[in-house]
Amino acid sequence: MKKGKKLYEGKAKIIYATDDKNLVIQYFKDDATAFNNQKKSTIEGKGVLNNRISEHILSNLSQIGIKNHLVKRLNMREQVIKLVEIIPIEFIVRNVATGSITKRLGIEDGTVLKEPLIEYCLKDDKLGDPLIAEEHILAFDWASKKEIEKVKKMILRINDFMIGMFRGVGIKLIDFKLEFGRLKFNDKDEVILADEISPDTCRLWDSITDKKLDKDRFRKNLGDLIPAYTEVAKRLGILHEQSNVSVVNVTKLSSVKRKRK
Ligand code: UDP
Repeated sequence: MKKGKKLYEGKAKIIYATDDKNLVIQYFKDDATAFNNQKKSTIEGKGVLNNRISEHILSNLSQIGIKNHLVKRLNMREQVIKLVEIIPIEFIVRNVATGSITKRLGIEDGTVLKEPLIEYCLKDDKLGDPLIAEEHILAFDWASKKEIEKVKKMILRINDFMIGMFRGVGIKLIDFKLEFGRLKFNDKDEVILADEISPDTCRLWDSITDKKLDKDRFRKNLGDLIPAYTEVAKRLGILHEQSNVSVVNVTKLSSVKRKRK
């Protein structure tokens, strides 16, 4: 497969065309941003870990019948994905209240929700991804009623599966963000899961100690982000015991190659 021109560059990923019009390449960068781009940094090795973790979760979701954009991982930083038209909504799923909801509604941090809560935010950096109601999605035609109903069913299955998967390795799935897209070049306008699922897009707490194993380490200046993401990958069985070194080595190797070009 030939890598073509850059189609889009986001905060943490780049999308490249391929010689197949249905497929694109998703490249995971090391860049980290928070608070609507006000805090920025580069964390060497983050993209490599997110590529592997997202591949693991999305391929497991495929196996339980959740259609998604992943075709296959190509290398340490890239995966082939199906081209979709992203629905401009971030679907936030919460099992435990923390982060923005605690400030917005005055809820105590760590409150366990009696049922998963789905929130919708409009994907618009200039507006700071504002929280919206389902009615706004319909009023402005961001998605149809049928699409939202389908997405909600998928979200609850994804949440159930991921809670179990993480619980099995001693991690609590606190909340996460999902994105969905419409398959391009498909008459049925099928909606599938897209983007990534990784410690960048989830809150993951150690089941016993509540230690944060996700992007809050960056947001809250807790440090040790790479060891935390590596811990998640190891517990999921993606990396083996000595692999801490190999993630860093491969990252260094690829940066040497880049410099040589
Ligand atoms: N999230 C994300 N991208 C966003 C906003 C949120 O991946 O642009 C994830 C975030 O990592 C967390 C969940 O969605 O797992 C809920 O985020 P919250 O609204 O609490 O965000 P905060 O403003 O606290 O970062």
